[in-house]
Amino acid sequence: MSTLTTIGFDADDTLWDHEKYFVDSKTRYLDLLAPYVDVIALEARLHETETANVSLYGFGVKSFTLSMIEAALATDGGDLPSPCVSDILQIGRELLVHPVDPYPGVHDTLDALRSTHKLLVVTRGDLVDQERKLAASGLLGYFHEIEIVSDKTPQVYSRIFTRHGDGPRRAMMVGNSMRADVVPAIEAGCFGIHIPSDYVWSMDIDSDPQDISRFRRLTSIADVAAIVAEIG
Ligand SMILES: [Mg+2]
Repeated sequence: MSTLTTIGFDADDTLWDHEKYFVDSKTRYLDLLAPYVDVIALEARLHETETANVSLYGFGVKSFTLSMIEAALATDGGDLPSPCVSDILQIGRELLVHPVDPYPGVHDTLDALRSTHKLLVVTRGDLVDQERKLAASGLLGYFHEIEIVSDKTPQVYSRIFTRHGDGPRRAMMVGNSMRADVVPAIEAGCFGIHIPSDYVWSMDIDSDPQDISRFRRLTSIADVAAIVAEIG
């Protein structure tokens, strides 16, 4: 029996683009408010608010939308025209319907691995939004289980890979976020595979683990099957 039995995949920026839509939204938001506020101060305030709000509202578009409104109200000094809030809400709503196109190699990779391994999605974000994207992606049929979690910690990975697999030592986590997908998964005892994405959210950055025996970095998801074969 192979050592590795279960493979978890992150969703956003691992299976399809996501962060680039956030970056576009942020640009539209700053352009919208530029006539009323100091844009540099607003951008800094948004970053602070977004970071602080994760512990209150979690990850995802709803949290980001609330942070955009909160940062705007905190920066404008009290004379922000009220239609601006509707416009900010609209920017947030549009983030909830962005297209979901799997990256090249995703279908082939999942198809090649699903007969030999249990495949899971492990993602953060808003429940409804993540379910919509998974349905729209056309990838649901490849996965044994979908786990939408409020945070990605070693304990969460340990629980998921014990419940749906043969424990973290026989599991691998694949994702674009060092901080969320790779470092805590390795800490739990899994293999951690980093596939860097074109756009990286500041809260996804982390340094490489000190013990690299269970760490690999790939340029494309198409290389995952080869790594799985190598690990055995
Ligand atoms: Mg991701």
